[in-house]
Amino acid sequence: MSNKNTKMMQRDLEVIWHPCTQMKDHETLPLVPIKSGKGVYLYDFDGNAYIDAVSSWWVNIFGHANESINNKVKAQIDTLEHVLLAGFTHEPAIELAHKLVNITPKDLAKVFYVDNGSSAIEAALKMSYHYHLNRGKRKALFLSLTNSYHGETIGALSVGDVQLYKETYEPLLIANIQVPVPKDQSIDAANEALAALEETLKERSDEIAAFIIEPLIQGAGGMHMYHPTYLVGARVLTQKYDVHLIADEIMTGFGRTGKMFACDHADISPDFMTLSKGLTGGYLPLSVVMTSNDVYQAFYCDYNEHKAFLHSHSYTGNPLACAAALATMEIFEQNDILGENEKKSSYIKEKLEKFSSLSNVKEIRQQGMVTAVELEGYQSTERIGLKVYEYALSQGVLLRPLGHVIYFMPPYVISYEEIDKMIEVAYEGIKRILK
Ligand SMILES: *Cc1c(COP(=O)(O)O)cnc(C)c1O
Repeated sequence: MSNKNTKMMQRDLEVIWHPCTQMKDHETLPLVPIKSGKGVYLYDFDGNAYIDAVSSWWVNIFGHANESINNKVKAQIDTLEHVLLAGFTHEPAIELAHKLVNITPKDLAKVFYVDNGSSAIEAALKMSYHYHLNRGKRKALFLSLTNSYHGETIGALSVGDVQLYKETYEPLLIANIQVPVPKDQSIDAANEALAALEETLKERSDEIAAFIIEPLIQGAGGMHMYHPTYLVGARVLTQKYDVHLIADEIMTGFGRTGKMFACDHADISPDFMTLSKGLTGGYLPLSVVMTSNDVYQAFYCDYNEHKAFLHSHSYTGNPLACAAALATMEIFEQNDILGENEKKSSYIKEKLEKFSSLSNVKEIRQQGMVTAVELEGYQSTERIGLKVYEYALSQGVLLRPLGHVIYFMPPYVISYEEIDKMIEVAYEGIKRILK
């Protein structure tokens, strides 16, 4: 490491407590101070380049320093940087909300702005509970899928099931039960899981406000994937038992699964949809809870009836973030992003064929622009993900495995040559930990 990188790292470690990190690891594992980014590349202070194969935690869908997003945000800074959204409004929030209503499933007609993914989950859970209450029913239980992830604030953590993040906080959590996620991408697995869902709904739908799911891909749960048949069935069953369906598309939204939204693969319209991550192209924190007119109407009455949704965050609907999101939506409008991605994901799949001959590869799975290679034959204490991460970094690729799952979630602007490099480095990294 150069003096500049090292110095930067030392200054950082004096004062910064990093997310999702055992800070002691950094006694031996260098931090990577990033100076700038362009396209799929991140550059450190030494001039080393890294392909951002995870879109910086799944947010940066059109690459770093994207020219058209840059320009829109720059223009917005000189116009209006922020204004509160209660009693006031602004053009980027209005235009973005209209665009979102137009592109999301048909029943989603209202946009509630929040400012990060977990907070959108909190708002959706509260709204669902409050809806039933306003309609005269007290339903204080939430249903979710095993292996799910919905964020890390208390409510979001409660409906999640990644024990590494959750178990410590168990005494603090809100009431939640889980039904099994389909065990693989087959239709049989989807039907089996639907039978279990119906059993639970039959018994406890009187208590359950909402069923919350990550449609098609469970991200932080190791890029676990399942068939759209499950979504179709879950929509039918939740309607039948008067339970809301919350589609958490924070990770899957905006083309990641091959269609604009994962729900589109099943042609379903949930009662709530949460969106964040790709929404602003990875520029600024912003999220939304989208819902139906039916839900909206349950809160709409005279003030003194006390049915309003009195939830707010300081940075709700920030104009700079909305401008970044509008620029991101425009990129989708002006290019055939989904068509190009389809070709790229086929190419990635083809390139990955040779991985299946490695004896430590258990499964390769793909859904749109998410491709995962699950490894087997290791204990969790071996931290093989970390080994692959360190090797890839030394070769100029940022991979960030989830346990034993190595995955690719690159910005959509990645070129075929860059895909080759990303995959070759991952292949070598996996080969090096063969026993
Ligand atoms: C990332 C994520 C969240 C949480 O969003 P944050 O902005 O990190 O709080 C919730 N749900 C899913 C599916 C996610 O991938």
